[in-house]
Amino acid sequence: MIDLHTHTNNSDGTDSPRELVNKAISIGIKVLGITDHDTTAGWIEATETVRGEISLALGSEISCLTEDGISVHMLGLLFDGEHHEMQVMLEETRDGRLPRMRKMIEKMQAAGIDISMADVEAARPMGATLGRPHLADALVNKGVIKSRDEAFQGMLNNDSIFYVSHAAPTPVEAVRMIRSAGGVAVIAHPFASLRGQILDASNFQELATAGMQGIEVDHRDQNPDERAMLRVIAKELGLVVTGASDYHGNGKLNSLGEYQTSPEQWEKLESLADRRRVVRA
Ligand code: AMP
Ligand code: ZN
Ligand code: FE
Ligand code: FE
Repeated sequence: MIDLHTHTNNSDGTDSPRELVNKAISIGIKVLGITDHDTTAGWIEATETVRGEISLALGSEISCLTEDGISVHMLGLLFDGEHHEMQVMLEETRDGRLPRMRKMIEKMQAAGIDISMADVEAARPMGATLGRPHLADALVNKGVIKSRDEAFQGMLNNDSIFYVSHAAPTPVEAVRMIRSAGGVAVIAHPFASLRGQILDASNFQELATAGMQGIEVDHRDQNPDERAMLRVIAKELGLVVTGASDYHGNGKLNSLGEYQTSPEQWEKLESLADRRRVVRA
């Protein structure tokens, strides 16, 4: 089993890296991608936990915004975690998430909702990349809503009046950074239309030209038609096709390993990194 896209409590997942790696081992995952939003902070603990047969493909899911303001998530895997410019880019995005959260909270307060930055900070694990799921957890703690899922179906949705975006690199900039740090770039759930506006097919050529090497096709937020279209695009552009769970612990319904990448596609992807960086015992 190969699952290349998961989150820990270093962003908006609920398992620690240790818990995630142990869980992956216990269900027989052979390659596990750990891709917290805009951070590599979980890599050390994950590396310390590795044992037995499993290989870790350490990475990050980089939040991006197109010039048209469309939100895109770019997975970087197998890049050099010490690459300075990459770390600066990730840090800038994390920094931008603070004023963004303040603005969302101000909008909610103006609408009479009882929520504060302190409530959100209390719901956020130490050092974790701050995101809407932490605001959702704070709203649950306050009794405003029942679950993260409810939040994302309403008040925290991209179309909600409370939604605010944050500064982020463009997808092309993220791809170039991943590649210059030696890694491989795979666009995450590009046709997950429930989340808001999505790219159109013509945008993939530009990303492939910038160095993007793969497309996440099998993902629960993409229906069979969307997956079929993505498979055609991947074939036309010679890109690797991946599948992954986007596991978030208890933070989302997604179960670890629910979608997978084939060994052939993984081998092709791994061979495109500048050197072998999977972590093994
Ligand atoms: P942000 O990065 O702050 O814009 O928040 C987006 C994050 O919210 C993504 O990482 C998603 O995984 C997460 N998310 C989106 N929809 C849901 C949902 N229905 N339940 C829980 N988390 C969600
Ligand atoms: Zn997330
Ligand atoms: Fe994502
Ligand atoms: Fe994700």
